[in-house]
Amino acid sequence: MKFDTKAIHGGQKPEETTGAVMPPVFLTSTFAQSSPGTHKGYAYARGTNPTRTALEKSFTALENGTHGFAFSSGMAAIDCVLRLLKPGDEIIAGDDLYGGTYRMFTQLFQKYGLIFSFVDMDLVSNISEKITEKTKLVWLETPTNPLMKIADIKAISSAIKTKNTDIIIAVDNTFATPYLQQPLNLGADIVMHSATKYLGGHSDLIMGALIVKDAKLAEDLYFIQFAAGAIASPMDSFLALRGIKTLHVRMQRHCENGKQIADFLSNHIKVDRVYYPGLKSHSSYEIAKKQMKDFGGMVSFQLKDNSKTATFKFLENTKLFTLAESLGGVESLVNHPVTMSHGSIPEEKRLKIGITNSLVRLSVGIEDIADLIEDLDQALHF
Ligand SMILES: *Cc1c(COP(=O)(O)O)cnc(C)c1O
Repeated sequence: MKFDTKAIHGGQKPEETTGAVMPPVFLTSTFAQSSPGTHKGYAYARGTNPTRTALEKSFTALENGTHGFAFSSGMAAIDCVLRLLKPGDEIIAGDDLYGGTYRMFTQLFQKYGLIFSFVDMDLVSNISEKITEKTKLVWLETPTNPLMKIADIKAISSAIKTKNTDIIIAVDNTFATPYLQQPLNLGADIVMHSATKYLGGHSDLIMGALIVKDAKLAEDLYFIQFAAGAIASPMDSFLALRGIKTLHVRMQRHCENGKQIADFLSNHIKVDRVYYPGLKSHSSYEIAKKQMKDFGGMVSFQLKDNSKTATFKFLENTKLFTLAESLGGVESLVNHPVTMSHGSIPEEKRLKIGITNSLVRLSVGIEDIADLIEDLDQALHF
């Protein structure tokens, strides 16, 4: 099946008892057994629930994996991956991570003895240099948030695997979605999503996903998911599955609109710098072009006036772009990383990597492009 067909039919079949085309929302905690241990594949809903199973099969199909897992949040999915490790294990991660991921690594797992190093993923050698015999996990995010840096998944994976095949390579694929890139095909072992964003696509749920292509890894992750219990609910599973059915159509429009907004901002007198992987001026344009089907709907930019007053004026001025956390929904959102999504990163560190006071991040929605541009244009009159 091609991707667009998989988005609708991947891993799905009509429900067995009634033929319902969409899986019912199985709001049940437990399932009848005819004799101890004899049941229809479902025993207790923390372990498995048919609505969640349908969604997990959809995740698996989209990412070209063999097993998928749905969690109560993106963070719960990341938490599950880190629980594969033990004290003393080393993790190499990108230096431009989602703020919550950075917070989880440094404020939760560091105190359990995991050792993190953060490197610029632009150069494969930055990662190779950090590998020791204790390295167990490499955590990539690409494009990164909010600076849209691109890590070359294929080059990084092959460089790591030639050193040590036991190192797990995990990719947070939230920004790209499987429509734009499929990390398992490029050598990664685990794909992670905040399904809260593009997969769900309608800003109406919080959810995480993990997809793998290795049976042993799947078994280990399933054990943690079941034992720790951070599962996605049946209702949220239903909503995510419904959202996924239009993923490819939504992504096409997100990409078209994103590109036009990046061009508009690049030519605007009040704008200093635009971060969008589809711009030829972007430092990783060539890798993005090779690795991704298109360039996505996330655009960041920096105002020429770097004052807090100017930035806040712009953020208060937008009418269609709603000032809010999150991304990936059909509606356009604007975010101020310094005060919102990246508030948990120390000032010195964020300035060093380029998250300045006037950096603004747009999640470009699928509204009419003329209305979106008009809104940004009027908001930039301050
Ligand atoms: C939102 C987000 C997360 C966290 O996911 P939640 O669903 O909010 O728990 C992780 N990574 C990226 C890139 C995100 O955008």
